[in-house]
Amino acid sequence: MPPSPTTYCGRFAPSPTGPLHFGSLVAAVASFTDARAHRGHWLLRIEDLDTRRNRPGAVDAILYTLQRAALHWDGPVTHQSSRIEHYEAALTQLRHAGLLYPCTCSRREIADSIVGMPASGEARYSGACRGRVWDSRFPRPPAWRIRTSAHPISFDDRLHGRFETPNLESSTGDFVLRRADRVIAYQLAVVVDDAASGITDVVRGADLLASTSRQVFLQRTLGLPTPSYLHVPTATNARGEKLSKQTLAAPVDNDNPAAGLWLALRFLGQQPPLDLRHAPPQDLLAWAVEHWRPSSIPRVQSASCENREPLN
Ligand code: GLU
Ligand code: ZN
Repeated sequence: MPPSPTTYCGRFAPSPTGPLHFGSLVAAVASFTDARAHRGHWLLRIEDLDTRRNRPGAVDAILYTLQRAALHWDGPVTHQSSRIEHYEAALTQLRHAGLLYPCTCSRREIADSIVGMPASGEARYSGACRGRVWDSRFPRPPAWRIRTSAHPISFDDRLHGRFETPNLESSTGDFVLRRADRVIAYQLAVVVDDAASGITDVVRGADLLASTSRQVFLQRTLGLPTPSYLHVPTATNARGEKLSKQTLAAPVDNDNPAAGLWLALRFLGQQPPLDLRHAPPQDLLAWAVEHWRPSSIPRVQSASCENREPLN
């Protein structure tokens, strides 16, 4: 289908830490289906900046699983590792605006300076290094933090409604944009890339809701547009842990792609007909696009995927 005149542009942005599991498939299916239901583009971006977490072969495994599942993306695949100069340019812009400062706090010092825990469970940084200026006598390479402000940040989620962070400075604190090992932080890269690709709609797991106000803050500070957001439930195991490599989530079964898609659609509150579980995946996705009802997605931040129905 040709894109509509006001082109919706969505994306799926996996990190190549391992093969896709059910939780990442849910995010892929939700973002794909929402994009196609809007007759929009759906882009694929590999978030491979954190080289310590990348696993050899993971990119190929992810692309293969998406292809097997007929989740066909538009245009070339973007790799964040080939876009460092764009993140550095954004850092330069922020540095010229006087908003960055170097921080050499060790992990222990940062832990000692915790003065509150934001909802995300991440430690808030006290701002101990605010006002420092970099010079060549620094004991070690610094991380670079952005100076947050006390202005309220809000955004609307299509499913969860309005989110307000009355004061980012006191709730989250100044956050790292480039680590001491020079790795660009996810928060900066995602904002730069979504804007560069013209992303209008972000559909992703609700584990990233807690990051969204930082991203909206960065968009405003860098003069970039804020996309529309839809955060879908994060899949957990029976113990309530997010599916991940660490929690030993099983990879998506490439030999039975429609079965995984069918379960992902059920997880998203859609009602795919039973007989499509064994159909070619493109037939099931065509059904999903035609019958997509975002309002039926459960309004929860996470849900177990282990009490789902048996497969036959
Ligand atoms: N790379 C992130 C992940 O795998 C997703 C980032 C996003 O969608 O903004 O969880
Ligand atoms: Zn510091």
